[in-house]
Amino acid sequence: MTEQAIQEVKVLLQSPKQIVIVPHKNPDGDAMGSTLGLYHFLRKFNHETTVIAPNDYPEFLKWLPNEDTVLKYDSQSDVCNKLIEDADIIFTLDFNALNRAGDMEFSLQESRAIKIMIDHHQQPDDYAQYMYSDVAMSSTCEMVYNFFEMLGYTSKIDVNIASCLYTGIMTDTGSFRFPSTTSQTHRIAAALIDYGANHAEIHNAIYDTISYDRLQLLGCALTNLKVIPEFKTAYITLSQEELNKYNFKKGDTEGFVNYGLSLNNIIFAAIFIEDQQQNIIKISLRSKGDFSVNEFARAHFDGGGHTNAAGGRSELDLQNTVEKFISILPNYNNALNS
Ligand code: 5GP
Ligand code: MN
Repeated sequence: MTEQAIQEVKVLLQSPKQIVIVPHKNPDGDAMGSTLGLYHFLRKFNHETTVIAPNDYPEFLKWLPNEDTVLKYDSQSDVCNKLIEDADIIFTLDFNALNRAGDMEFSLQESRAIKIMIDHHQQPDDYAQYMYSDVAMSSTCEMVYNFFEMLGYTSKIDVNIASCLYTGIMTDTGSFRFPSTTSQTHRIAAALIDYGANHAEIHNAIYDTISYDRLQLLGCALTNLKVIPEFKTAYITLSQEELNKYNFKKGDTEGFVNYGLSLNNIIFAAIFIEDQQQNIIKISLRSKGDFSVNEFARAHFDGGGHTNAAGGRSELDLQNTVEKFISILPNYNNALNS
């Protein structure tokens, strides 16, 4: 963001506004942490602020301060559309294209509100008047912290804001282990702890509150894990039947794809999850090093994301999706074996 843009945003926020904050569809820790962190911040300036999520988010995020005020567009579209229509400012957080907001895409497009994007995904679309986009950032939560700093308002950070932002930084960095984690990420995390974030409690709330069913589903996923050593690739499948057997709930498969990457000599991991309701296969991709799963997802599975973490979808059935995936790998032989 330029100095001028920051000053303009600062002026905008100086008088009370009607503000809507939007995370991406199927919001994760970074999406909910950043939107709720910003929500608590804006409320200190007496803005009328609402977080509208395109749809629901996992149980393990349902302790974030004031998460119970979040509206879900898929079940409350009338009231959400009214808020979007009346908004002076709409912040879009942790996504780079309006179609990532699911069915909200069209009301967001039509809204006359000033749009402010804060995001770290690659190849952002140009829909916002103010864009703070930086693909080198570990997380949108880190960027929201920087945003407060640019405005000169870090002193407004309280325990609620700190807890929200710490959550997103922790989840998007895989607990500070992904290459996107910098010394500055640690400095900000340290500052958030000083502002009151309880790192041990937050880690516990996110990672150590798993249901027995979910752990059994992980067992099933690991049993299904296949390795293709010649392409340093591992993949997992989960059918709808398997998900049903373990009473699958949103968020239950979060992190499963990383187990493929933990194998020796594997640099590319995928998980294919059948979703009979949407009639698609949801795909998550992860990599180590320079192999870009963002490019791979964009080229073959209608998706995108970051170099080392991306997602996509397939309208083929589970078996055909996996066959397609395997058939593509030889095209990436050089990149996977360099
Ligand atoms: P996940 O695999 O955890 O769902 O997503 C990994 C990363 O890719 C996240 O940063 C997420 O925002 C992005 N992503 C996931 N699914 C899609 C998709 O369908 N399209 C795009 N453009 N990005 C996605
Ligand atoms: Mn993120």
